[in-house]
Amino acid sequence: MSNVKKEEIIDVLDGYDNDEITIATLGSHTALHILNGAKEEGFKTAVVCEKGRETPYRRFNVADEYILVDKFSDIVNLDIQEKLKSLNCVVIPHGSFVAYAGLDEIENDFMVPMYGNRSILRWEAERGLERKLLVGEDIRIPKKYDDSKDIDRSVMVKFPGARGGRGYFVASSSDEFNRKINDMKSRGWIEDEDVEQAHIEEYVAGCNYCIHYFYSPLNDEVELMGMDSRYESSIDGIVRIPSKDQLDMDLGPSYIITGNHPVVMRESLLTKVFDIGDKLVKSANKLVAPGLNGPFCMQTLVNDDLEIIVFEISARIDGGTNSFMNGSSYSYLKYGSGMSMGRRIALEIKTAIKMMELHKIIT
Ligand code: AMP
Repeated sequence: MSNVKKEEIIDVLDGYDNDEITIATLGSHTALHILNGAKEEGFKTAVVCEKGRETPYRRFNVADEYILVDKFSDIVNLDIQEKLKSLNCVVIPHGSFVAYAGLDEIENDFMVPMYGNRSILRWEAERGLERKLLVGEDIRIPKKYDDSKDIDRSVMVKFPGARGGRGYFVASSSDEFNRKINDMKSRGWIEDEDVEQAHIEEYVAGCNYCIHYFYSPLNDEVELMGMDSRYESSIDGIVRIPSKDQLDMDLGPSYIITGNHPVVMRESLLTKVFDIGDKLVKSANKLVAPGLNGPFCMQTLVNDDLEIIVFEISARIDGGTNSFMNGSSYSYLKYGSGMSMGRRIALEIKTAIKMMELHKIIT
């Protein structure tokens, strides 16, 4: 629960000049198309960036203001907050903003108006809460194993924290699980406490689709904005090696995201795609008001029974939206060309300002 009260943020917003709103974000993740989209919708833009990391923003010329800091995490420092407020900034949260600013600081200390629901960010970060959001509305997720002794099919074993897919492994029996855990312990990759927290779930042999949605509370509709699939090291490199050589090489796969491919799904599955998007919005509304507000993503695997199985969600703009900075096949259907997720956010803020409802979409 956020200690930053909505009324306090509304007070800050009341001091803003609505004709001079600046869209700001941290210089990483999806900042390029957030800022570019904001400019396309006529906003001023600001980027808070670690010194030495500003090159892409300058070369692509997406920011009017560069607020350079020693460390990304300095975005929560009081002087930076003051600077952002003096520019009438609405901050767009993304994955790197959450990681560097920190959930506690966002919930308790960051007094700059943020687009979306700041309280829901914790719900995507903690596996138990994330699960609650999904199971409430019967969204299909991988079967979870509470005890490694119960492993009765191929499973994926994940560890908590910001490992980003490093050290995940696949096992098909409890013996194999124990063998791999002991091997990882002896190499010093994991400790006993990690083992206690290991998350074991059904391995879904399917194709990866990360589905990017946008929910607008202004018109109460869930929009399908685009889809990507992940390009992950080392797993996507390993699959280029013939299987007989793989056996000789004794490679353990890791799942570190390095990039994204744009993708579309077979059309007959789109009814389900909208259905699970609507369900997640409904569930979030019930569990963590004001629910999902703006961009969100369901990371899914589609198996050969054509089930869409959700293994993770992002309750804010997801990095995979970088695969459609100039619009996607789906955003084209609704908006014509050129509607990135960043631009869609700016359009929402512009519409809210026009309708005098900016307070509805910030926290
Ligand atoms: P995550 O850290 O949960 O986003 O997972 C990282 C990567 O692991 C995903 O992008 C998938 O490639 C893979 N993955 C995650 N969960 C599963 C699963 N249950 N079955 C198969 N592959 C998975």
